[in-house]
Amino acid sequence: MKLIPVDAPGHEQVVRIEDSESGLSGIIAVHSTQLGPAAGGLRMRPYDGFEAALEDALRLSRGMTFKNAAAGLPLGGGKAVIIGDPARDKSPEVLHAFGRAVEAMQGQYWTAEDMGMTPRDMAEIGTQTDYVAGLADGAYASGDPSPITARGIFNAIHTTARHRFGSADLTGRRVAIQGLGHVGLHLCRFLHGAGARLVVTDVSDAPMRQAVEMFGAQAVATDAIYGAEADIFAPCAIGAILNEITIPQLQVSAVAGGANNQLATADDGQRLHECGILYAPDFVANGGGIINVATEILRIGNREIWVGEKLEALDDTMDRILTRARQLSVSPNGVAEAIVTERLQKAAA
Ligand code: NAD
Repeated sequence: MKLIPVDAPGHEQVVRIEDSESGLSGIIAVHSTQLGPAAGGLRMRPYDGFEAALEDALRLSRGMTFKNAAAGLPLGGGKAVIIGDPARDKSPEVLHAFGRAVEAMQGQYWTAEDMGMTPRDMAEIGTQTDYVAGLADGAYASGDPSPITARGIFNAIHTTARHRFGSADLTGRRVAIQGLGHVGLHLCRFLHGAGARLVVTDVSDAPMRQAVEMFGAQAVATDAIYGAEADIFAPCAIGAILNEITIPQLQVSAVAGGANNQLATADDGQRLHECGILYAPDFVANGGGIINVATEILRIGNREIWVGEKLEALDDTMDRILTRARQLSVSPNGVAEAIVTERLQKAAA
């Protein structure tokens, strides 16, 4: 197996992994270890070549630095990708080779599940390295993070509602949810329990039927979610859905959801601000998942209490961001990045 250093300004260490025996081709990107070992999931996708995979790995690893810092975790930011179709190219040999590459990083990078990976894959990787989280079994196994992610988003929706409408009470508020997967359906459950009325969409029919039957949601076509009459839009599917085409369609007063990288470009944060739509930065709103994974990396014994405290602190951070954004009359996304940068600079000092 070859680990080839890749020059990536702004990143501490990036390596290209090539293993001719197993066919593994991938990248481990460590953006920052300023706050602790870099942590971030492993994504497997049939990328359109090495450059496309590198771009994704660099963007995602930087994002993890911000997410981990915003969540107040003693963890830096990293991410790994494997180039290939998980349905066709994933094999124990590929996962083992990847595990050896993680081991070679000597604890600088901790891996976990992301798109194209399962807890069983993490167990395969774990035969070669200890620096793996997201396991289904074991003393500190943290299991499925999505209920905790959804709890954090639910908190963020309350806080956003308080800032936007003057009350955190969600009774009768309409929330439009895009994506009813692991996170989206848990979020529906919490919102329904709080008395919110739901408008939902998904590319798949089955979860939509579930949301209609279980939570009395109104189902709409995938493209219709942007123009749905609601108070809050909660993106919980894919990234880059807040852009120059969708933002003018929005009928909501606020956006607070769990999808990663919701803004297509940094300008779209400003665009939302200019439209009078309050945006709860995604990397703060969805930090519950990494808080849950962190219990495994940091070997936290009293998990429930620790997670509860971290979720509360995350919510305080969101409150500070929205307060400062209102005082300065600027987009909360820029404020969130500034607050996290401040935390990183303090750690460096
Ligand atoms: P998932 O794959 O379980 O669910 C995504 C859902 O979105 C699926 O039901 C899919 O059919 C639907 N979908 C895909 N494209 C769509 C579209 N164009 N319109 C409507 N629906 C669409 O994923 P998940 O674990 O629920 O994660 C959802 C988002 O939250 C992702 O962006 C993920 O990166 C982010 N996130 C998840 C976690 C976690 O704990 N799972 C943590 C942090 C961030």
